[in-house]
Amino acid sequence: MTNTTFADLGVAEPLQRALQAENYHTPTPIQARAIPLLLDGKDLLGIAQTGTGKTAAFALPILQQLADRPDRVGRGGARALILAPTRELAIQIGEAIKVYGRHYHLRHTVIVGGIGQQPQVRAMSRGVDILVATPGRLLDLINQGHVRLKAASILVLDEADRMLDMGFIRDVRKIVAALPRERQSLLFSATMPADVARLAAEILRDPVRIEISPKTVTVDKVEQHVYFVDAARKRALLIDLLRDPALARVIVFTRTKHGANRVSEQVDKAGISTEALHGNKSQGARQRALARFRAGQARVLVATDIAARGIDVDGITHVINFELPNEPESYVHRIGRTARAGAAGIALSFCDSSERSHLRGIERLTKRPMTVAGDKRAQDLAPSADRAAPRNGQPQRKRFRNGRSRRAA
Ligand code: AMP
Repeated sequence: MTNTTFADLGVAEPLQRALQAENYHTPTPIQARAIPLLLDGKDLLGIAQTGTGKTAAFALPILQQLADRPDRVGRGGARALILAPTRELAIQIGEAIKVYGRHYHLRHTVIVGGIGQQPQVRAMSRGVDILVATPGRLLDLINQGHVRLKAASILVLDEADRMLDMGFIRDVRKIVAALPRERQSLLFSATMPADVARLAAEILRDPVRIEISPKTVTVDKVEQHVYFVDAARKRALLIDLLRDPALARVIVFTRTKHGANRVSEQVDKAGISTEALHGNKSQGARQRALARFRAGQARVLVATDIAARGIDVDGITHVINFELPNEPESYVHRIGRTARAGAAGIALSFCDSSERSHLRGIERLTKRPMTVAGDKRAQDLAPSADRAAPRNGQPQRKRFRNGRSRRAA
């Protein structure tokens, strides 16, 4: 958080009122840096992940600029386009725009795949001020002549790395080509691999670069523990941990869709309300699962990385890594679900002997060794080759903190 206020950043009064109602008292670092220069019309390259407050960082200046320059849009037209890789993220951005823009009279709509296109075509028929979309369906509607982007003067590519990961590069290029050259462009990405850097160079003009490293935004605020446990004992450990009501709103990450289903079934059988979220589920089923989790009807959401990416649920008390991801960045994304925008959170990681190298990679990236959970129950539940035999009656905790014994197992 920063010492400035939204008013200091030049945010207009109707937006300030909406932010107050949302209990946003101070801008996050990315908001403090991005908002003034976006209001000034600059292009932006934002290296930041979900959880930093980046949605408001781009949505507020877009709303304000469009409200300041009232303009008519033609049939199928949009004045600003926000592209997001997943339906969930697009819908979430649409909701944020509705909340922040509630005192303005701007029209917005969300276009995503997996649902009927007719309502979307209807919504576009009068044109909108802000269009939020995933690339595939948007391109379909452009090709059918239902959407025209010739009047779009602002473009945002959110989670560009994910977008390219999901194979959207060609669609993105075609969509960008449908926009006028004279425009303000913003690109956000959690990571900056070469293909994203190339895309940024193509799309942005003399951009200001703002980097909010995940290290400072989330990792430092999250209490991180690791349990050394056999793969076969993970389920029992999870269910045992979930018996503690302090784990009030929990996301459990698995590596595969199949794993997410299996774990959620097992947790459910233990009498703990749970939902699974992964790419094999229909759009409707995913929305229902999320809604139940958001409403607190399900205490536990079991998800894969891709399905959970960009999902914004407040008040996550714990993130549990049932399996460690092999990409350290994914770990940072996962634990960023707890401790959002300043709150503290807890991440618990289960590490079996095959995952030791993943753990080392993660600790190298975060530059913070995880605390080895010395919890009695975990020790009881993890009696295996993963645990060095007690020596001289030393407490487990101490031995596990010793890097040597970790690697030796
Ligand atoms: P984002 O990174 O845009 O997904 O935002 C992460 C979360 O932080 C969302 O739940 C936002 O509602 C919340 N948020 C964003 N900006 C602020 C702020 N300035 N103060 C408090 N919460 C915020």
